Amino acid sequence: MIDLLDISEQSEGCGTEKKYRLADYFNRWWDEYAQHPAEYITPEQYKAANAIRVCHTAALGIDTYACPEGGEIREVYHSCKNRFCPTCG
Ligand SMILES: [Zn+2]
Repeated sequence: MIDLLDISEQSEGCGTEKKYRLADYFNRWWDEYAQHPAEYITPEQYKAANAIRVCHTAALGIDTYACPEGGEIREVYHSCKNRFCPTCG
């Protein structure tokens, strides 16, 4: 498993460091949260964390757009729209 706290080792060199989303940190420890969520976070916090985890992933659905002329296909992942999500809020 990748240790997300040690970002320096994830560097791909020459200023092209891998960027992490908040969801990456939630996912890192989500299994532990899911076993006993009431001991660590409130249901509202659980709901927000889960929304952030799946934001812009296939879990929320994907819209596929294709250019009729060039044939370029672009996939757009749905957002969670949670007010606490750093991407959506
Ligand atoms: Zn979101």
